[in-house]
Amino acid sequence: MVECKYYSFYALAKINDPELLYEAFQQQIAPGHADEIEVEVFEYSDQRWNRLTRSGGLDQKIPKRVLRMLNQKFGAQDTGSWYYDNEIEGWFCSYKPLSTKHFVLLVKSSDPDKLIEEDYLQFLFHFYCHQLQMLQGTYRDALTGLYNRRAFNEKIQQLLDMSNHYKRRAKQYSPTVFVMLDIDHFKSINDSMGHLFGDEVLLLLAQQMTESFRDNDLLFRYGGEEFAMVLMDITPEQAQQTLDRFREKIANHKFPNISQVTVSIGYTHFDTSLSMDELISQADNSLYYCKTTTRNTVYCYQDLIEQGLTPVRKAPRAPNLKSI
Ligand code: GH3
Ligand code: MG
Ligand code: MG
Repeated sequence: MVECKYYSFYALAKINDPELLYEAFQQQIAPGHADEIEVEVFEYSDQRWNRLTRSGGLDQKIPKRVLRMLNQKFGAQDTGSWYYDNEIEGWFCSYKPLSTKHFVLLVKSSDPDKLIEEDYLQFLFHFYCHQLQMLQGTYRDALTGLYNRRAFNEKIQQLLDMSNHYKRRAKQYSPTVFVMLDIDHFKSINDSMGHLFGDEVLLLLAQQMTESFRDNDLLFRYGGEEFAMVLMDITPEQAQQTLDRFREKIANHKFPNISQVTVSIGYTHFDTSLSMDELISQADNSLYYCKTTTRNTVYCYQDLIEQGLTPVRKAPRAPNLKSI
């Protein structure tokens, strides 16, 4: 029987990534027993099940019978249910935290003669749920549900470090461009319609972002009415098109009680030899270029440099953290 050891979970609290959480799960919750118990995490997104595992990442195929089980037993909305599957000889536990994806844990004993006690299983499951909930609170912006500034600092640094972790593992962690986006004349929206209405615009914009970009892309509320993004696995040319399409979509979107909301976007190639400050400053300078020229446009740092336009903000500027 696998024994549960209550080790310090401090490291887990710092993890904001289900895949890493899975790994820590293996290493810390069942130390010394990692070869006796297998925990797999599946997520439901984009109308299909993906597997978050140590070796495979999202590309790794889910075995047919596991997929059948996931499809049969767990609708996208299902939460908190448990099933033991005789064929697979494992427990399926389902969990869907508020406004995030739906996860299913598959817990199996690697020795079929050793049964996993239900108490232990419950512990694993509840622990996992609590972690997700906590991470949700720690790393998400309360108004928009996007990643917050804290998640920004950690995730961008992780991507820049490209620690072996990420390199080893997954294609989906291949950042292409770093983007900064700022709502145009947002102050006047607040001034004319009120702060609450301004909040509504922020929320609606964030929803448009979530709908428009892919699940692998990282979306952050950087501060106030400024957002940051990392787009994954596309060429810089595709990034330009995607961002321009998004800019246009917002300019044409019918926000309630307001004729038009536009956004300015600056981006730069995600070059892992840069520091976080340099990366931010390149995207921010391109954004600044939009603001001082036309607004409602998308500019790429490298393109501006190539054209001999070196956008530089005169004074270093602190982001507006007022309402986060
Ligand atoms: P620009 O086109 O140059 O970006 O102009 P702007 O008016 O958007 O920019 P400015 O920096 O002058 O004003 C940003 C405003 O955003 C000021 C601030 O009160 C407002 N703001 C910041 N955070 C929030 C928030 O959480 N809710 C609301 N409603 N307003 C916010
Ligand atoms: Mg601003
Ligand atoms: Mg603005």
